[in-house]
Amino acid sequence: MNSNQKPTALMLKYLYAHLFVVDPKRELILEKLSYQDVYELIQQIKQFTKEKQQSLSHSTSFQERSVWRIDTSSSMELYLIGKQLSLQYFGRPCKIPIEWDKSVKDAAGRFIFERTHQKPIKIVQSLWQYNQFGAQHVIATLKHELVHYHLCLQKKPFADGTPEFVAECRRIGAPLFAVKMLEGYQTYCSECGTKADILKKARKKDKSPCCKATLVCKEYVIRLPDGRLVQVEV
Ligand SMILES: [Zn+2]
Ligand SMILES: [Zn+2]
Repeated sequence: MNSNQKPTALMLKYLYAHLFVVDPKRELILEKLSYQDVYELIQQIKQFTKEKQQSLSHSTSFQERSVWRIDTSSSMELYLIGKQLSLQYFGRPCKIPIEWDKSVKDAAGRFIFERTHQKPIKIVQSLWQYNQFGAQHVIATLKHELVHYHLCLQKKPFADGTPEFVAECRRIGAPLFAVKMLEGYQTYCSECGTKADILKKARKKDKSPCCKATLVCKEYVIRLPDGRLVQVEV
C-alpha cells in the first residue's frame, strides 16, 4: 500500500471521536497520518473498547477521558457529565439545564442566555454532532459552553474570542470554538486562487468572496472542532 495514501473521512472521524484512547495528550499530528497509520490506530481503539466493555463500570469516579458513550434517550446523563465538569474545573455546580438538541446542526453546542439581563438560561448540545463524532467531542463542547456560563455568572465578558474567555478555555483545556465538524471540498477562487469555503460541491451560484468568480473544488478535507484541517479521501 502506498504510504502517502490518505485515510478516508469516515476513518478520521472515528479516530477523532476516540482520540483520547490513543492520544491522551493530543500530540498526534493528524494532518500527517497516512491511511495505514490511521488503520493501525483504529485497531488499537477497537481493542481498547472491547476490553473496556468487558470490565464495564467497576469504577464510579468520574474520568472525563474515559467517557465514550452517553445516553441520548434523555438528557440526564449529559447533565450529570456537565455537572461533574463544572465542579471539577470551576469548583461550582452548573445550575442551568444541559440538554440534547435535535435541531442544532450548525454548531456543536450553544450557551443560551437572556440578553437584557445577561442571565444564563441553558446549554444545548447537538445530538447530531454526538451521533457523528462521539462522546469526547461532546465533552470538549460542554467545557467550552461551561466557560460561557461561569463567566456570564461572574458578570465578566463571556463572548467567544474575548481575552477572558480565551484565558479560561486555555486554563481548562477547552476548544476555543464550539464549531461543528465539517467535511467537503476545499474550494479556491478560479480567478486568483485564494482559498474559499469548504463545500460538499460547488454550485454555479457560489462565488468567491475575493473576485466574485466561480469556485474550483480541490482536496477533500475535514475541519475538526479544534480548527485543524485534515485532508482525507472521500
Ligand atoms: Zn462559544
Ligand atoms: Zn479571487
